[in-house]
Amino acid sequence: MLSAASIGIAFSEPGDDTEQLLRNADIAMYQAKDSGRNNFKFFHQAMHASLMEYHELERDIRKALELGQFHLAYQPKVNVHINQLQGLEALLRWNSPSRGPVNPNDFIPVAEESGHIIPLGYWVLDEVCRTINSWRENGLTPVPVSVNVSARQFQQPDFHRRIADVLHKHDIDPALIEIELTEGLMMEDTEAAQRELAQLKRIGLRISIDDFGTGYSCLSYLRRFPIDVLKIDRSFVKEIGTSRDGESIIDAIISLAKSLRLETVAEGVETPAQLNYLLDHGCHVVQGFLFGKPMEKHLIEPLLAALDQGGTDSTAVVRALKGFG
Ligand code: C2E
Ligand code: MG
Ligand code: MG
Repeated sequence: MLSAASIGIAFSEPGDDTEQLLRNADIAMYQAKDSGRNNFKFFHQAMHASLMEYHELERDIRKALELGQFHLAYQPKVNVHINQLQGLEALLRWNSPSRGPVNPNDFIPVAEESGHIIPLGYWVLDEVCRTINSWRENGLTPVPVSVNVSARQFQQPDFHRRIADVLHKHDIDPALIEIELTEGLMMEDTEAAQRELAQLKRIGLRISIDDFGTGYSCLSYLRRFPIDVLKIDRSFVKEIGTSRDGESIIDAIISLAKSLRLETVAEGVETPAQLNYLLDHGCHVVQGFLFGKPMEKHLIEPLLAALDQGGTDSTAVVRALKGFG
């Protein structure tokens, strides 16, 4: 097995003691590690500032978890072919009293790095189950909800068992829960990932690959893993009408999914032109601001009520979403 070295280099400044010097070299070493294998970095003061920022954010995430400051927003996924709400994606939101609303792209990487994503991830699933039950209690027909899962969560040895426990505790039909995983995660430890996915399928969950096309280029895992859905990344959808390359990638993903009998969902659909392109090319399930931004929990119940009343009226979904989004 090849070993990789990461080297941090620090020079003694006037007033620094040996301990400070070693700490600085350590900080530089961790930065070197972050930039990939076989790297070296010189320490500079900005590294210290970014480490302090990281620690503050890490501490605030831990406090927010204890104080219950996280909540979920739900974004609709619509099957435009049959005009039906296919499901909702649960998305973490954090409105910090001191920081204001914090972007998930800023706090989730820190939650992943620090390990807080593990309790936070179980909180997300727990909250989704509670919400589905509250719909049931209010006489509404529940819709499937997808939950994002990070590598750190998925790689826990008892991941599928803990998921099954949460579903069992809330008496939730596993068919109502979809797990969204990213491509990179499939490659980290192929055999273990394969076993874990098989267990999740056995429980009855649906598996979808998030941000498809942006991660690993080896596609053979698609044959080996029990996957149901490919989510076409927003970066390709954005290029519809402006770049033939982006469109070609979308066409390739749709035909790959078709031949492997997988579903496709397009992410980040914002314009009618993007929607028309996707429909013309065979992707009928879309998610994006065109149909609805992520909505607060209290807006979902009236939406489900409107859909229940709409029955089989084919335009009910679109009308309801326009009214509530
Ligand atoms: P994602 O899972 O790919 O989620 C889709 C992101 O695209 C969401 O960003 C959503 O608000 C945004 N989006 C949806 N439609 C549009 C659109 O039409 N235009 C544009 N510009 N954006 C759109 P958000 O909520 O900021 O989440 C960012 C990422 O954070 C997610 O990407 C996901 O990777 C991660 N994340 C969110 N919630 C969770 C969670 O509960 N657990 C984990 N592990 N990760 C999460
Ligand atoms: Mg997602
Ligand atoms: Mg995505």
